[in-house]
Amino acid sequence: AKQNGNDHFQFYVASIDQEIRDRKQLEKDLSQALASHQLHLVYQPQINLESKRVIGAEALLRWDHPVRGLVPPDDFIPVAESNGTIVEIGQWVLEQACWQAARWAAESTPLRIAVNLSAVQLRQDNIVNDILETLQRHNIPAGRLELEVTETSFMTNLSDAVEKLHRLSKAGISIAVDDFGTGYSSLTYLKQMPVQHLKIDKQFIRDLLVNEEDTRIANTIIDLGKSLNLSVVAEGVETAEQEYYLSQRGCQLAQGYYFSKPLQPREFETFVKGFHEQ
Ligand code: C2E
Ligand code: CA
Ligand code: CA
Ligand code: CA
Repeated sequence: AKQNGNDHFQFYVASIDQEIRDRKQLEKDLSQALASHQLHLVYQPQINLESKRVIGAEALLRWDHPVRGLVPPDDFIPVAESNGTIVEIGQWVLEQACWQAARWAAESTPLRIAVNLSAVQLRQDNIVNDILETLQRHNIPAGRLELEVTETSFMTNLSDAVEKLHRLSKAGISIAVDDFGTGYSSLTYLKQMPVQHLKIDKQFIRDLLVNEEDTRIANTIIDLGKSLNLSVVAEGVETAEQEYYLSQRGCQLAQGYYFSKPLQPREFETFVKGFHEQ
């Protein structure tokens, strides 16, 4: 047994060693991703369930790695957050999203763009000015930008987060709480934060109408939104049944594969035209 245990131990060490090397390599690759133009954004339509109009898009980051192919954001964003590269990457995302929003506004109907803002970005001293300056430079009215922040962003330094979000909100930017219900939700945060939208995480939508608890959680978030006068966005809507239920239940906005997966800018434009012609 001892022998066996030893083997296990060595295997364990070897695999940790491998993991560390993989991670170091990933960090190294990531530090070059921006300069090598390996990052791009895709846009997922956000639909108003009442008017059946596309009201905007969420910008989602994609990394086209030269060897590994597409690396999912859930694999590299945590790495970028822990070594700080998210600050530079996040600024690029904002820049790119504003550039795209300006193009859409010039070519067709202006759309609202939702950008994910990492907790690490929100902690930067200059973040508010950087965001406002980027909007100005691209001539985007602040009302056209939505920032998606998670509840974790509020936790490290609540008063700092409150102060920054208030400045952004005063300027006209709307704030959405992303992954609502998955973190340390606290009604105290909601009361203090200048928040306009709650996003129901896709984990509660996946089994909507199948799993009773998930259905109740979704209902609760929709009701909370109503009573606090916040609009609610359901993410991960994949079926007509989910869409029907949510719209009957009073959830105003939705996004998900049922409508469209995240799209390249050209595909997005085609989608919007087709959707509005229906
Ligand atoms: P998120 O902000 O909660 O985004 C929703 C995720 O659900 C996206 O995954 C989206 O592609 C996916 N999704 C949309 N509709 C459906 C659906 O109907 N079914 C299912 N199963 N999934 C759906 P994605 O693009 O892989 O992004 C994962 C996470 O990475 C995001 O979660 C967000 O936390 C983070 N992320 C993505 N882009 C950025 C970025 O530019 N900055 C930061 N800080 N984080 C980002
Ligand atoms: Ca999001
Ligand atoms: Ca989510
Ligand atoms: Ca998320």
